[in-house]
Amino acid sequence: MIPILCGECGSYSARMRLTVEGLFQCDHCGWLLFRTEISLDGNEIWVVGPDGTLGYVIDPAVSLAEIAESLDDYMSAPHDSYGELEALRKSRDAASRLRAAYEAGVPYPKAEKK
Ligand SMILES: [Zn+2]
Repeated sequence: MIPILCGECGSYSARMRLTVEGLFQCDHCGWLLFRTEISLDGNEIWVVGPDGTLGYVIDPAVSLAEIAESLDDYMSAPHDSYGELEALRKSRDAASRLRAAYEAGVPYPKAEKK
């Protein structure tokens, strides 16, 4: 997971940590963040690490779609081309983001009903 930085002090070394009241507090400046104030990109999901650190991961459904798309790109690229390498790189990066989401406890996306 990627740690979410404090919106007040922006310190790269500070972490937002879960409090007993269910808020998140910056361990550098003490700024408090409510769950409803967490603002992320639509492809991101916020998570809490085992040590109470607030972070985010990419939605597994997005990573799975990226893997499928990059494998299609690989299959349609000329053999031994830059396109092949780029498609493999995209697939590897998406697989890495998928693994990070699972390690953070985000469940596998439900299959769409046909
Ligand atoms: Zn702070």
